[in-house]
Amino acid sequence: MTTVASVAKLGFAYPATPVLHDVDMTVHAGHIHALIGLNGAGKTTLMRAVLGMLTPDTGTATLFGQPAATAPALVWKRVGYLLGTESTYGELTGRENIYAAARLHGLDRHAARQATEAAITEFGIEAEAGKRAARLSMGNRQRVALAAAFAHRPDLLVLDEPTIALDPLAVVALRRSLRDATHRGAAILVSSHHLDEVARLADDITVIHRGRITATLDPGGTDLEKQFFDLVYAAE
Ligand code: ATP
Repeated sequence: MTTVASVAKLGFAYPATPVLHDVDMTVHAGHIHALIGLNGAGKTTLMRAVLGMLTPDTGTATLFGQPAATAPALVWKRVGYLLGTESTYGELTGRENIYAAARLHGLDRHAARQATEAAITEFGIEAEAGKRAARLSMGNRQRVALAAAFAHRPDLLVLDEPTIALDPLAVVALRRSLRDATHRGAAILVSSHHLDEVARLADDITVIHRGRITATLDPGGTDLEKQFFDLVYAAE
């Protein structure tokens, strides 16, 4: 298995708030790796560490074999992400958001235009693409952000609760896009509170509780919800 991203013995604290403790995690090419945990467990913070958006206090975060926080632009081109509301610019249209993301991730103008139109079709947002993101419903803005994350066909996708505002049709479309991405070899790190969705999709599951990795679960194993609650109650 090819390692795309990993953290080792990673610790991180916001001022006066310790969040991550001694975290080890590896994300493999071609795998959907789900991160599950209660509200405030540290999932978003861990994703930011994986992406090199914060500097660990202890331990390491590695992206494509390079230290994540100082990885060169070449590495950044291979990454796509969706982290809540940070992922779209309200003043730009849906199409402009996707194009801007594609350019930022290294596509030339022609390739970015093509990738933008392909992503608009893939995510079924033709009707929304011409509108400013700030004017879109939360779900449609989320679909624009997803199209922007996928457009340049990254080798690593980091998606923080990507289905949170999506309708059932959009969830099905996203599931298809995730599978297509892994079939071309991409690695996906995704957080979700929907354990049925995780059980259905994930190849690997990491449980984080109070900033510590509590377990790695087998999606093919017994009832994921039961496994999750047993772990969380045992850790309390
Ligand atoms: P949720 O499921 O609710 O989205 P999460 O597992 O993604 O939660 P994080 O967002 O990583 O959790 O938050 C972990 C902890 O870090 C929480 O206690 C949170 O209050 C704290 N935290 C997050 N961002 C900041 C920040 N910018 N400054 C200070 N503390 C923060």
